[in-house]
Amino acid sequence: MNAPDSQTCFSVIDGIIEAGRFAHARGWVPATSGNFSARIDANRIAITRTGRDKGNLTEADIAVVDLQSPLPPGLSAEAPLHVARYQASAHIGAIFHIHSPASAFVSRVHESQHQLLLHGWELEKAIAGVKTHEAIVLLPIFPNNQDTVTLAASIEERLQRTDNAAPGYLLAGHGLYAWGHDTREALRHIDALEHLIALQDRWNSKHQGITA
Ligand SMILES: [Zn+2]
Repeated sequence: MNAPDSQTCFSVIDGIIEAGRFAHARGWVPATSGNFSARIDANRIAITRTGRDKGNLTEADIAVVDLQSPLPPGLSAEAPLHVARYQASAHIGAIFHIHSPASAFVSRVHESQHQLLLHGWELEKAIAGVKTHEAIVLLPIFPNNQDTVTLAASIEERLQRTDNAAPGYLLAGHGLYAWGHDTREALRHIDALEHLIALQDRWNSKHQGITA
């Protein structure tokens, strides 16, 4: 395995620190919640250690993890959800996870439907590959589960057979995951999805019985 060049490592860690600040400033990662990761190379990712303030991350708060080895101690219990996504797609370069009030609440409201359909919003075009507000973007919702290894397996099984899925998913009563080919795209996706979730929920509550 080639060592990551230092430039790649720097930009990955900088991207995580920037995303942490961005999410913290918006109240999306209360009480050290959430976790942020980015790919260094084919076999390695950088990921935030457990219990760190996402608004004030430094290099010491970020661990480098080998995707093929057992996870080291000190990571978030949710690290298996990140690892499973990177293993499923070589195109994923960064994954961000937040506990925003909107994503925690809306995912719980819509949990029995197992998905939230985003439709009719200009902001959908912030999602890679979406060209029109007329697109229907499916955001999967999974029940929350403290056994994150089992949860990761059920998430990956469903994502592999889901078309038109957003680059993200909701965990009911918990929060939002989103990814992109690099830290910049992952940040754009989590920002867009966070807004789209709130918009769609407001629309659905005003138009009960009329869904996309
Ligand atoms: Zn979480």
